[in-house]
Amino acid sequence: MERLAGGESVDVVVIGGGITGAGVALDAASRGLRVALVERRDLANGTSRWSSKLAHGGLRYLRQGEVAVAWESARERHILLTRTAPHLVRALPFVAPLDAVMGRWHGAFTEAGIRVGDGMRVAAGTRGSVLPRPRRISRHEALRLVPDLQLRDLRGAILFWDGQIEDDARLVIAAARTAASHGAMILTYCDAGSVDRGRVTVRDALGGGGFNIATRHVVNASGVWADALAPGVRLVRSKGAHVIVRAQALGNPRAALVVPVPGESARWVGATPADDGRIIVGVTDDAYDGALVDEPEVTPDEERFLLSVLSLALENPIGSDAVIGRYAGFRPLLAGESASTADLSRKHAIVEDRDSGVITVVGGKLTTYRHMAQQTVDRLLKNDPRPCRTARLPLVGAAAHDVLRSLRAPARLIRRYGIEAPAVASLAAHDSRLLEPIAPGLPVLGVELLFGLQHEGALTADDVLDRRVRLGLVPAEKAAAEDAVGTLLDAAA
Ligand SMILES: Cc1cc2nc3c(=O)[nH]c(=O)nc-3n(C[C@H](O)[C@H](O)[C@H](O)COP(=O)(O)OP(=O)(O)OC[C@H]3O[C@@H](n4cnc5c(N)ncnc54)[C@H](O)[C@@H]3O)c2cc1C
Repeated sequence: MERLAGGESVDVVVIGGGITGAGVALDAASRGLRVALVERRDLANGTSRWSSKLAHGGLRYLRQGEVAVAWESARERHILLTRTAPHLVRALPFVAPLDAVMGRWHGAFTEAGIRVGDGMRVAAGTRGSVLPRPRRISRHEALRLVPDLQLRDLRGAILFWDGQIEDDARLVIAAARTAASHGAMILTYCDAGSVDRGRVTVRDALGGGGFNIATRHVVNASGVWADALAPGVRLVRSKGAHVIVRAQALGNPRAALVVPVPGESARWVGATPADDGRIIVGVTDDAYDGALVDEPEVTPDEERFLLSVLSLALENPIGSDAVIGRYAGFRPLLAGESASTADLSRKHAIVEDRDSGVITVVGGKLTTYRHMAQQTVDRLLKNDPRPCRTARLPLVGAAAHDVLRSLRAPARLIRRYGIEAPAVASLAAHDSRLLEPIAPGLPVLGVELLFGLQHEGALTADDVLDRRVRLGLVPAEKAAAEDAVGTLLDAAA
């Protein structure tokens, strides 16, 4: 901040520290550009931490006839799984029950879509050892994977595989830290005000005061807030809600369960097993024109909808009493594409403002962030092309699975920090208690809090709890951890 406020200029200022901004900063820095990223709060403050945490192959887009979007997703999923983030993105089995809710016609349609999606997996070069082929399974096998399935009219199920992201916020942090390792300056709690060709005005949200950054290019990657900085861009928003239930409520499933929304051909409610005995149930998708807040609430109607659709496939319906956490996020959609937000395309858009020269990149998905960033930086460099390197550039922590398996560190740390896990564990060298859970019943180890503060740009207790270790997704767990993080912050002060 001192260097920039002191007049040091950069080639690109990126506004927004979600996956899109972090991806653009990484792409630009790895092509040799001088980059500053400014984020008005913490990394992954916006939509990027409220996702379903899947690296989609694009099945949904195939059903909507959006073959190009599905193909882009399959290609990018391959890169994440095999090269850039194999530590954070892994194969997850999905069970689509063939029952009365699905119906025979819908079942055949779904299976055909899954098979076309599998053709894209093969075309993208993703081997069956990385993402297995889909197949029909018996009632018995379906029940083994999802023990609480209702059996009355179950004919069997389709088993298919897709990518799951360990933690969406950790993907953002990994991309931002990788950008920093290529020289990008990452400034959190810096709010971009006015933007213009050659200058971005920034307010220091923690320290107070403000400064200007001199720059050749500006990329606006501020997600649902993008139209505030780019008057020529008109956005509409939709809202997507999730609830979190304990895995026991579904009999500890070993696969995700997908249930079609009755009366709709391309909408599902999914129950996805995540770490630490949590199941993420989502997602709704409704037009939204209310206030844009950082932490949108899940309404009782949204919760009822998710639980009632999911319960259609279960022997024991799930009620609100099983819910331990709730979260929702907004999607930015370019205005004017379609009347129904659920049918709007999930393509991204790159829009250049002729007057200010600001390039806005908006929409898309976590899965496709790398390709969006590539196209954005290609646009910046249209008069001075330089090759993009990110398809072969591992994010911090990435390593092949055999390397990850050989590491000597707690399994949880390997899952979340990849090849950095031994370095994270070594923070307990002088105090072995840091390798213990931070409070009884919580999965998080003390070293994770320390690593977040020392190496991952966390500046506040919420940065650590909400966006580094994700206890904030379950309020009771966050409350139980607050003392531990407070003690560490006091010690660091
Ligand atoms: C409910 C839901 C589920 C989803 N599930 C998936 C999924 O499973 N898989 C998938 O691939 N994709 C999924 N997506 C899509 C994906 O989450 C988004 O496309 C992606 O996270 C958008 O990232 P972003 O960086 O563009 O926006 P954001 O993450 O919102 O980042 C924008 C950032 O800009 C900052 N900002 C705003 N204004 C300023 C300013 N003036 N100055 C500085 N900073 C500013 C904000 O604080 C914010 O951090 C989902 C989306 C939703 C809504």
